[in-house]
Formats: sequence, C-alpha cells, structure tokens
Amino acid sequence: MAKNEQECWARVKDRLRTTVGDDVYNSWFARVDLEQLNSEAVHMSVPTRFLKSWIQTHYAERVLGCWQEELPNLNRIELTVRTPARSIAPVKDAKAPTEERRGERGDGRGVQEGGRAPISAMSASAGHDALGGSPLDPRLTFETFVIGRSNTLAHAAARQVAEGRRGDTVMFNPLYIHAGVGLGKTHLLQAITFTGNAIGQRKVLYLTAEKFMYGFVSALKTQTALAFKETLRAIDVLVIDDMQFLQGKSTQAEFCHTLNALIDSGRQVVIAADRPPSDLESLDDRVRSRLAGGLVVEMGSLGEELRLEILKSRVAVARHLHPSFDVPAPVLEYLARTITHNGRDLEGAINRLLAHNTLSGHAVTLEMAEREVRDLIRPQEPRRVKIEDIQRVVARQYNVSRSDLLSSRRTANVVRPRQVAMYLAKTLTLRSLPEIGRRFGGRDHTTVLHAVRKIEALVGRDAALADEVELLKRMLQE
Ligand code: ADP
Ligand code: MG
Repeated sequence: MAKNEQECWARVKDRLRTTVGDDVYNSWFARVDLEQLNSEAVHMSVPTRFLKSWIQTHYAERVLGCWQEELPNLNRIELTVRTPARSIAPVKDAKAPTEERRGERGDGRGVQEGGRAPISAMSASAGHDALGGSPLDPRLTFETFVIGRSNTLAHAAARQVAEGRRGDTVMFNPLYIHAGVGLGKTHLLQAITFTGNAIGQRKVLYLTAEKFMYGFVSALKTQTALAFKETLRAIDVLVIDDMQFLQGKSTQAEFCHTLNALIDSGRQVVIAADRPPSDLESLDDRVRSRLAGGLVVEMGSLGEELRLEILKSRVAVARHLHPSFDVPAPVLEYLARTITHNGRDLEGAINRLLAHNTLSGHAVTLEMAEREVRDLIRPQEPRRVKIEDIQRVVARQYNVSRSDLLSSRRTANVVRPRQVAMYLAKTLTLRSLPEIGRRFGGRDHTTVLHAVRKIEALVGRDAALADEVELLKRMLQE
C-alpha cells in the first residue's frame, strides 16, 4: 500500500478518535484495517462480523465524513470481515500503530499457515446463505458469550467444534446441547457457525428445525440422489437449532438419512433442543439413539454471578452508543438477583433502563429499576423434572430398584410405586401418555392412564398416600 495512503489513513484515524472519543475509538475502531483505496471508495476490514455490522449501523456516516475531509470525492465505504488468519499474517505496514493489534486474541485461534489467502467471513457466510442456512444474528458470537458454571462444558465443546479443521478426528458426534428457554443455546450454535465459517476451512450450515423441514428437506427431495450427496458433501458441519420442533415421519426419515450420511463420513453435527434426546417425543428410536450416542450436554439455569456478568456486558455494549448511560452496581445486583428467569429477560431489562434513561434523561436508580422491570420478575420457575429423576426417587423411597419399575413384574410391592411414578411423570412433566408408557418399559398409554386415574382416586381418600405423593413431589421439585 502506498505510503501516502497509509499517512492518509493515519490522519483519518486521528480525526475519528477526536470525533468519537478515546473509549469508543478503542472499542470499535482500533482493529479496523485499511485494505484498499480508490478515487470513489475506501475498503476497510474488521476482525468480526459483529464489529462490521455495529460500525455500519452506528458509525458509517462519521467514518465516511472523516475520509471525505481527506478525499472529498469519496462517496462510499466498504467493510469486510477478515479471517483470524490475519492475526498472525505478516503486518502489512510496519509503521501501523500497535494499537491496531491490541485486543486481538493471542491464543492462536484460527491460526493458519502464514501465506494462505484469507477467506473473508462474508464469502463464508455467503456460502452459508447459498446452502440455504437460516439467518444469523451478528451479536451472537463467542466474544459476547459469558461463561459460568452452568455452561462451561457446553461452551468448551462448542469451541472445540467451531475450531475443528477439515480432516481432524471428530471428537463427539453429534454434539447435542439442551437447556430451557433463553439459556444460550442459539447463542452458542450461532457462535459455532460464525467462528467455523470465519476460519474458512470448513463450511458450517446453521438451520432451525423449521428451516430444515421446509427448506432443506424439500430442496433435497427435488434433487436426484446424486445431487443430494453432492449437497451433503459441501457441508462440513451441520448445526440444527430447536430440534424439538422437528416433526413428521418423512422429515424424520430425511433427518435420519442426513444424520447418518454426515456422521458416517466423519462430518460434524451439532444439535440444540429444549430437552434431552430421551425426552424428544415422536422421534424414531434409531434417531434417538444416534443422537444420544455423541456428547449430550445440558446447560443449567444461569446462576446469579453469570446473570450479573451478562448484565454488565450488555451495559458495556449499550454504553458504546450512549456513553452517558450508567447503571449503578446496586441496580445491577438487584437485577441479577431478581430476574432469574432467562437471558432474554436480562437483555430486556437493560433495554428498558436504557430507553427510560435516554428518553426521559433521568438517571438510573434502584427505584426506577424496580418500577421498570416489575413484570420481568417472575416467581421461581419450577425445576425441570425428568422422568429418570422420578423413577430414581420413587424407587429409592419404596425400596425397589429402577429396573423393577420398568419391568413387567406385577407384585403389589412394585405395582403401587410404578403407578405413583407414572402419576408423577404425568403431573410434573409435559410428557404425553404414550411417551411416559414408552419410558416405563414400553407400556401402552392406556396403562399409564389407568395408573394416573388410580392414584388420583387414591390420594382423595388415603391421607397417608396423599402425604407420600406430596413429599415425593417436593423432593423432585427442590
Ligand atoms: P435459547 O436459544 O437457549 O432459548 P438464546 O441463545 O436465544 O437462548 O439466549 C437468550 C438471550 O440471552 C440472548 O440475548 C443471549 O445472547 C443471552 N444469553 C444467554 N446465555 C448467555 C451467556 N452465557 N452469555 C451471554 N449472553 C447470554
Ligand atoms: Mg433458541
């Protein structure tokens, strides 16, 4: 790059720093590189897609303005995402200020042989789009994902998958992540997709189950068997979100087919759902066992500490755009303590405080926070009870084994506990009667219904049994 272009770029950066202030500059612009300059357009690159979209939506005008003071004929700026490979590529301009490197991760992620041409994440995501992938939210990256006790394992597995190379041994396949609503499944899956594609070695395709059903499967159906294989060959990592919505016999058959084809040829599959594979109703047993055969990780609810960290990171992001926005520590602690439900409500809370603060000009106080987020504070969610837990607790309480409960034995000392367990499964989980029957040694749904009615009738007149059932419920829900 010509020397005068670099000098020009240096002046533009100084101007930018003066207009937006040091903090904003360091957060958003320190890692912008100049790629190319011509008479009408300037082409710059940034390391993440998030940065690209942030700068485009919030600072495009100002950046262009700063450039136009140098070159009045410029009428357009172009931003692209460079790959992590660039972080160790030879520095293009030895005189470039070192701040440009500040904040780059030094962990060698995505390091490739120095000379390899960088593939921009844009082209990678274009590939993702061309394959019919679902849209990605640029904010959902590993950088913005906060790690805590409940998600350490899921995060580590996700990172491992995202950073895998073509030809690497696949460690766990499929990677199956399950958690309740708003606990970060989509965030992790999109981070995998984004990072995987940005590294540029593998094609990662992210699909919601819905997209899989109505886009992918129907597209595959119109192709020949050969074309189908070709399409699959183009995908290194298939990521499917909200697997619990995958329904219908023919969809499942296609899914099973796809899953087998990918796994058998060493391709990675990642799946998220709101429940473990064993609880996915209406799923073919072969698919279920294939799903359970990889690594199944649960993400628990967000602990208070994690909630506090997520809130802090949301405030930090908001402050870049509204530097005067300030949420005092006691307010953050209050929110982290009371909004226990999920990540979406945490985000919602910060958005409301921000809106209130910027629209009314009033500072954020504890009192205002209490008023603004009142409806987000819900009573503690009842714990997700699992059928296995019910079987385990009931078996222990009645001193029988879990396999007794699942067996066909009909002696009185097993029949009653089995009925109680089925009753609890019906009342404490959302599972259907056929599903419960299946989980109790492959029984018919009418057997389950009979057990449920039986126990309902008994607790009405047998106070001792009623107490017993109450106690079991409490044990399971605490
Ligand atoms: P799910 O897909 O499990 O329902 P999402 O991934 O959509 O949940 O998360 C809901 C919201 O909470 C998103 O805004 C997400 O960014 C945020 N969130 C959840 N967990 C985390 C985390 N560990 N770090 C940062 N943000 C999180
Ligand atoms: Mg989701």
